[in-house]
Amino acid sequence: MQVVHVSAECYPLAKVGGLADVIGALPKYQQQHKTNAKVIMPFYDTAFIQTHNTATVTEFELTIHQKNYTVSVLQLEEDAMMDTIFLIKIPQLLDRERIYGYEDDVERFTTFQNAVLTWICNWQDLPDIIHCHDHHTGLIPFMTLQCPAYSALKTIPTIFSIHNAQYQGQFSHDKQFLLPEFDHNHVGLLDWDGMINPMAAAIKCAWKVTTVSTSYLQELQKKANGLEHLLAHEKGKSFGILNGIDPDIWNPATDPMIVKNYTMDTFATGKKKNKTWICDSYGLDPEKPLFAFIGRFVYEKAADVLSAAVDAFLTHNKELSVMILGSGSTAIEDELRILQEKYQGNFNVHIGYNEQLSHRIYAGADFLLMPSRVEPCGLNQLYALRYGTIPIVRETGGLKDTVIDMGDDGVGISHRHASIHDIHHSINRALSLYKDTSKYHSIQKKGMKLDHSWNASAQHYKKLYLSVTKN
Ligand code: ADP
Repeated sequence: MQVVHVSAECYPLAKVGGLADVIGALPKYQQQHKTNAKVIMPFYDTAFIQTHNTATVTEFELTIHQKNYTVSVLQLEEDAMMDTIFLIKIPQLLDRERIYGYEDDVERFTTFQNAVLTWICNWQDLPDIIHCHDHHTGLIPFMTLQCPAYSALKTIPTIFSIHNAQYQGQFSHDKQFLLPEFDHNHVGLLDWDGMINPMAAAIKCAWKVTTVSTSYLQELQKKANGLEHLLAHEKGKSFGILNGIDPDIWNPATDPMIVKNYTMDTFATGKKKNKTWICDSYGLDPEKPLFAFIGRFVYEKAADVLSAAVDAFLTHNKELSVMILGSGSTAIEDELRILQEKYQGNFNVHIGYNEQLSHRIYAGADFLLMPSRVEPCGLNQLYALRYGTIPIVRETGGLKDTVIDMGDDGVGISHRHASIHDIHHSINRALSLYKDTSKYHSIQKKGMKLDHSWNASAQHYKKLYLSVTKN
């Protein structure tokens, strides 16, 4: 079976968040389950892509509304895995430093999707499945069904995976010209609330829809940034398939980015060395339990509540250290800088994106805070578990599905609300646990033993693919 993943991100080439990790890992595991998986993504000007040689696979002209684009399809020359990844280069449009956040993102990603379909239409062996990820690729299921230009792909099943329903990519109907000609009797398939909504279009047109955890799927049917009724209506074709992690990259025994590697037998001493590095680098006391947060400072991650909770906690209790890595809302970044001044020795923050530091924090922290308001799957808690760091999570989405509270014989600490009160309660429970070394170590070890690799998920996807193909 041949599957083509179409995505805006793929680790290590271009990463903003969890989507990249998923697309960087899932195809590898699908190969092991006899699914020939390819990835098609944009060619950006990221550091990784800039420093790797590429070879041209093909070139063609694309015309959209009298505008001509020269498209090249490239592959990275080195690295065994790279023969599965294809990069769509459209000069001046896609090859920029950042992945998202440009004024012409609508044009960038509609053109990308058109280039992908134009290329695939010319393949000798058409794929069995086109698997699209998030709204940047959400027009594909509509276009394969409705645009005569892509009629060769009409019978190819499309799967749409929702990694984050918060972002839907809406744009005005005035920009319909960015799509090839289609039957206007079906324009309603593109529409949601008077706008072209690529995520809604994908939910309507894809043969199957998946979300990255079962709890998230259920939550979306009640609250999905305006798409809840649509998701409830389409629940018959929707499935929750939990993300996995790539143990080749996220393995404390071999991870080249951490200070000291460790195994299940050496985790206590190994983690201590990593913790000492963080504490020395960021002016924290290694004798105190270290709580960390890694992520985007956005509403969904409840970084605002976390900052207020940390402030209120540290005013009364200095028996812990807190280390934060992330970026996002400038208001939250500013608040965290104030805490950095106010609680020197107990609190520090690294504003920005830093892959190596994130690995070191997973390895060196004692607890990882994830008070998220919304968490489709969440990978951080899975990395934390693998690195012997106990996750403290709010019961939502994938966090609810993967972190059982230690009171119920689980491997983490969970709370109901994204509130200061609940976060404080969980921190207090963590502080008590930290003092009970043997219990603390046994929970760490139990978490490290869990298998969150992609094997189970790859099998679920395969079953889903088989349900829509004849193979
Ligand atoms: P989301 O995709 O919603 O941001 P996920 O939990 O699915 O959240 O994935 C987040 C990924 O991004 C993880 O690999 C995490 O380690 C990484 N990450 C987030 N922020 C940063 C940062 N500032 N520096 C390094 N890695 C980060």
